[in-house]
Amino acid sequence: MNGTVLITGASRGIGRACALAFGKAGWCVAANYNKSGQEAERLLDELRRMHVSADVFRADVSDAAQVSEMLGKAEARFGSVTALVNNAGIAQQKLFTDVTEAEWQRMFDVNVKSMFLCTRAVLPGMISAKRGCIVNLSSIWGMAGASCEVPYSASKAAVIGFTKALAKEVGPSGVRVNCIAPGVVETDMIAGVDGNARRELAEEAPLGCIGTPEDIARAVLFLAGEGGRFITGQVISPNGGIII
Ligand code: NAP
Repeated sequence: MNGTVLITGASRGIGRACALAFGKAGWCVAANYNKSGQEAERLLDELRRMHVSADVFRADVSDAAQVSEMLGKAEARFGSVTALVNNAGIAQQKLFTDVTEAEWQRMFDVNVKSMFLCTRAVLPGMISAKRGCIVNLSSIWGMAGASCEVPYSASKAAVIGFTKALAKEVGPSGVRVNCIAPGVVETDMIAGVDGNARRELAEEAPLGCIGTPEDIARAVLFLAGEGGRFITGQVISPNGGIII
């Protein structure tokens, strides 16, 4: 049985693809965005054309007050949230020695603290319903580490620890918590990676290509649906085989 999914960072990239995939599969979609209001409105138009019950909610998910306000509005519109996709994230490529304290803090606020805030907001409803599913977006770099991406890699490794610990804690309450750790995916996040580097990354993967947002959305939807019934605390990595 489907329900309502709250997807953070749904205005672009993987989050947007998740919103469309869940909508197509019959879920009600609460889509969060922060800065990309026009993209969020376009997504909403597209969902409504598909006759999906959907709305968009602006919030910086690293801010506790904004998260709480967003959840209040989403619940008023759709009732309690049955699935949460903690997708919003930022990346930065920089030599470790050039990273400032503010950049380190922002990376952890957006990539990790946001998961704490959004999860804390939806969990009481899931626990009282004895049903719920949380999917957190990590990265292959959270498993393997990337040169010139120490803060990003560290934040994505934290997402894996968060997922495993929370899965143990809330499994007995009927809530599943899993992690998707994508390989390289064609979104704005990799806009700065030049053509040669992209080709090399694609060639490094046994499947010989980089991923699409839809490749990742299908895996997220699988975990949230019946297919994920017996799966919790796991890290699933759609990555073309670049890490095995
Ligand atoms: P993207 O195209 O850059 O989109 C990022 C999304 O996150 C946007 O919708 C953005 O919303 C939202 N966002 C950023 N900061 C936010 C904040 N403070 N509050 C609310 N929303 C915020 O990135 P993507 O490639 O789709 O990445 C999605 C997730 O997958 C991230 O967690 C990323 O680390 C992970 N991932 C990506 C790749 C890849 O190769 N692309 C690989 C592995 C993992 P606004 O524009 O509205 O602010």
